[in-house]
Amino acid sequence: MCGIVGYIGFRDAYPIIMKGLQRLEYRGYDSAGIALYDGNGINLAKTRGKVKDLQERSETNIPLNGNVGIGHTRWATHGVPNDVNSHPHYSNSGNLIIIHNGIIENYESIKQELTKRGYTFESDTDTEVLINLIEEVKKKENVLLGKAVQIALNQVVGAYAIAVFDVQKPDEIVVAKLGSPLAIGIGEDEFFIASDASPFIEFTNKTVYLEDQELAIVRLGKEIKLRKIENDAIAYPMVQELQFNLEEIEKGMYDHFMLKEIYEQPSAIKDTYRGRLLVDQGIIKMAGIDQNLEKFLNTNRIIIVACGTSWHAGLVAEYIFEDLARIPVEVEYASEFRYRNPVITDKDVVIAISQSGETADTLAAIKLAKDKGAYVFGVCNVVGSSIARETHAGAYTHAGPEIGVAST
Ligand code: GLU
Repeated sequence: MCGIVGYIGFRDAYPIIMKGLQRLEYRGYDSAGIALYDGNGINLAKTRGKVKDLQERSETNIPLNGNVGIGHTRWATHGVPNDVNSHPHYSNSGNLIIIHNGIIENYESIKQELTKRGYTFESDTDTEVLINLIEEVKKKENVLLGKAVQIALNQVVGAYAIAVFDVQKPDEIVVAKLGSPLAIGIGEDEFFIASDASPFIEFTNKTVYLEDQELAIVRLGKEIKLRKIENDAIAYPMVQELQFNLEEIEKGMYDHFMLKEIYEQPSAIKDTYRGRLLVDQGIIKMAGIDQNLEKFLNTNRIIIVACGTSWHAGLVAEYIFEDLARIPVEVEYASEFRYRNPVITDKDVVIAISQSGETADTLAAIKLAKDKGAYVFGVCNVVGSSIARETHAGAYTHAGPEIGVAST
């Protein structure tokens, strides 16, 4: 994982993007970069290292004005972590820039083809290949940026969350997703783009989460336009109103996020419990589906699916649930679950645990459980994350950012 942040509107983009990148640090990364459009051209800074290194580099090297910008934290997959391989990446003409989370698997053959057509590459990344493919399509087909991105993405195999900006069309950012998460925050005359909602939560709680294979044209003064990448069909954005507490993602008086998490966990759990008593005798709704409530309350078996630390939390839950509720509990490693044809019925309750709410194996286990008719309850930390959205109901751990994961 790693992160992307973007802004287009009337505020200074720089502080929003910098703060946003800091909030996404929990996702892990090795380099960071930012590009700002100042009304005439792009000012870009990037570096191997931390967001604070990027901050230093930006503040000494580039003008920081501009109401449009994109920022990135990279977790290198193609090319070592260094300044040149960091994002954003320019296209050969210098008109397009891109930030990308994910992997373009067939980048090598596309790179060869583009090289034959005269393209050159500064970095070793798959991402720079993608932005030049978009440029080539745009020129050759003589289409607008959104259409060029859509055509290019149909030629790539892999996973991505991308944001693309064209200096010649500075009132819009084109974003698309397959596999990696991407959220769009909708404000008044402004839009935010990020890997999760935490970078923009103090500005707006109206969020659209792109589905896999969707592309959005985020244009100032217009509604968001959504399209299916595969066939260019129009899709309709579902705007969600997030309940999010800014304090949860700030360190406050604590020196470290891990300390904050440790100290706040008891009250977070108590608050969750209090909420449970108030809402539907036991369940905090995340996905808003409660017709299966009886199933949840009367189940004869609970299956817990999780990975890593969350799996260990599941083992503790097994002791507690069996001891107090006398309901048999099985704790499964999510990455193995779908490969061994497990017995799941529509009488089962599956509890999926994941701090980030994006753990791919846990998401796959949730899908399998839902296909078999089980009622799936999610426990995660990141508000509005994929697991929060894919489960029937659930609870947030309210553990703050995942910079120091102390416990679940
Ligand atoms: N594959 C891209 C690269 O290596 C993006 C990696 C990421 O997700 O940060 O630059």
